Amino acid sequence: MLEAAIKQQLDQYLQLMEGDVVLRVSAGEDKVSNEMLELVNELASMSSRISVERATLERTPSFSVNRPSEETGIVFAGIPLGHEFTSLVLALLQVSGRAPKVDADTIKQIQNIEGTYHFESYISLSCHNCPDVVQALNVMSVLNPNIAHTMIDGAAFKDEVEAKEIMAVPTVFLNGESFGNGRMSLEEILAKLGTGPDASAFSDKDPYDVLVVGGGPAGASAAVYAARKGIRTGIIAERFGGQVMDTMGIENFIGTAYTEGPKLVASLEEHVKEYGIDVMNLQRAKRLEKKDLVEIELENGAVLKSKSVILSTGARWRNVNVPGEAEFKNKGVAYCPHCDGPLFEGKRVAVIGGGNSGIEAAIDLAGIVKHVTVLEFAPELKADQVLQDRLHSLPNVTVITNAQTTEITGTDKVNGISYVSRETNESHHVELEGVFVQIGLVPNTDWLDLVERNNFGEIVVDRHGATNVPGVFAAGDCTNSAYKQIIISMGSGATAALGAFDYMIRN
Ligand SMILES: Cc1cc2nc3c(=O)[nH]c(=O)nc-3n(C[C@H](O)[C@H](O)[C@H](O)COP(=O)(O)OP(=O)(O)OC[C@H]3O[C@@H](n4cnc5c(N)ncnc54)[C@H](O)[C@@H]3O)c2cc1C
Repeated sequence: MLEAAIKQQLDQYLQLMEGDVVLRVSAGEDKVSNEMLELVNELASMSSRISVERATLERTPSFSVNRPSEETGIVFAGIPLGHEFTSLVLALLQVSGRAPKVDADTIKQIQNIEGTYHFESYISLSCHNCPDVVQALNVMSVLNPNIAHTMIDGAAFKDEVEAKEIMAVPTVFLNGESFGNGRMSLEEILAKLGTGPDASAFSDKDPYDVLVVGGGPAGASAAVYAARKGIRTGIIAERFGGQVMDTMGIENFIGTAYTEGPKLVASLEEHVKEYGIDVMNLQRAKRLEKKDLVEIELENGAVLKSKSVILSTGARWRNVNVPGEAEFKNKGVAYCPHCDGPLFEGKRVAVIGGGNSGIEAAIDLAGIVKHVTVLEFAPELKADQVLQDRLHSLPNVTVITNAQTTEITGTDKVNGISYVSRETNESHHVELEGVFVQIGLVPNTDWLDLVERNNFGEIVVDRHGATNVPGVFAAGDCTNSAYKQIIISMGSGATAALGAFDYMIRN
C-alpha cells in the first residue's frame, strides 16, 4: 500500500521505536476497512515491535495505538494517510517510549491536568492545518492517562460529519461538546483548557529595551535584529508565526525555491530562540500607553514596560459583514479553501472576491466541488490574467461581476447567497451549500488609539519604521507599506529594529 520511497523513510523511523506497540484494529468487510488492515499489517511487517490485534472499537474502521499493557487513548478512525501519515508515525514512536519534542514545562503542565478528557478531532487528509491539532492531542494522550484522542477522517465518516454539521476542519470536540476549530498548537489547546499563565507570571519582568508586539515574519525579524545588538528583547504574540502558519506553499521566499508555512515558522522560532529572546506566545496586547517608558497591557491584565516598542500585529481575513456570515461561520461559511474545500465535495459553493486569493480559491475548489460561483463587487476580476485564463477554462465555474453580496442564507447551515446586481439593481439568490470569503485582509490595529493610522487602519510609519509616538515603531502588514509579503515584512521588521536601536542611543 505504501510507496517504496515512503517505505524506505518509514523504515528508518521505525528503527527509532524504543518499546513494543500494539495496534488494536476494528475492521469490517468494507473497502476502507480492508485498506486500513492492509496498512496496519504492512506496518507490523516492517517492525518486530509492532503487533496487530483485532478488537471492537467505537468506530469501524479504526485502530488504537497502545503499549502492550496500557491503552493510551489514541485512536485513528479512517486511514491516516495524506497529511496525517506523519501523525501516525509520531504516535507509533511516542507510544513506543520516544519522548515527544515538547519542553519540560509543557510536559509537566500536561501531566498535571486532572479530570477526564476525551477529544475527538474531525479532519480531512488534505488539510494542512489538521496534523498540528492531531499531533498535539496525541502528545497529550501519550503523556496523561486521563486524556484520550480520536482522529476522525471526515471522508470515511460522512454520516457523522453530516449529523454533527461539521463544515470546517479541523473541528475538535471535548467530551462531546464543541471545543474549537482551525489550527491550534499544543500551547493553544492547553491555554483553552485554562492551564496557561496568569498576570502574576509576568509581574517580575524587568523593562525591555525592545518589546515586539506580534510574532509573524515582521516581529521575528525585528526581534532577531534587536537582540543581535545585545539589548533586552521580548516578543508578545497572540499566535507565533502569524499568517504564515496558514500558508501552504511559499515559492517567493528568495533563496528558498519552495517551503511551507509551518516549516518556515519553525525555523523563525528556532532563530528567535537562539538569541535568548523572551517569547511570550499566546498573549494578546490590548492597550499601549506612553509614559517614561512605553507600557503594553496584556489581555490577562499584566503590564509590560519597554524603552521602545515595535508593533508588528499583521492582518486577518476581512469579513464581508453581511447577515449570515457570523451566524454560519464553520456551518458553511469558510475562509480556508485548502482546509475546508474537501468537506464540500460534490456540493455547490460561492467564492466572494475576484482578486488573486479569490480566483486561486475558485480554481482549487472547482476540482473538488460540483459548482463554483465567483462573486466580484467590481465590474471586472482583479486577479492576474494567468489565473483568470485558467478560471475561464473550467467548466463548472460561473463568474458574476458587479455583484454586491447582501446575505448568506440558511437555517442551521448555509443554503444560499443573495446579491444585488450593481448594474441593474436586481436582487438574486443562488442556492448552494458553502461560501468562501476571500476579500483580503484588515490590519490588527483596532486596539491602538495613540498611534496614527490611515483610512484603512494601517499604522503610518516613516522610512525608519517610526510612528508618531516617540519610541514606538511598526513593521509588516499592520503598516501602510505598499505591499504585503513575507519578505517585505521581514525587511520592515529589520528596519524598525534598527530604527528603535538608533532611537535608544539618541535618547
Ligand atoms: C493564505 C495566505 C497565503 C500567503 N502566501 C504568501 C506567499 O506565498 N508569499 C508571501 O510572501 N506572502 C504570503 N502571504 C502574506 C504573508 O503571510 C504576510 O504578508 C506576512 O505574514 C505578514 O507578516 P507580519 O509579521 O506583518 O504579520 P502576520 O503574519 O499577520 O503576524 C502578525 C502577528 O501578530 C500577532 N498579533 C496580532 N494582534 C496581536 C495583539 N493584539 N497582541 C499580540 N499579538 C498580536 C499575531 O498573532 C501574529 O503573531 C500569504 C498570506 C495568507 C493569509
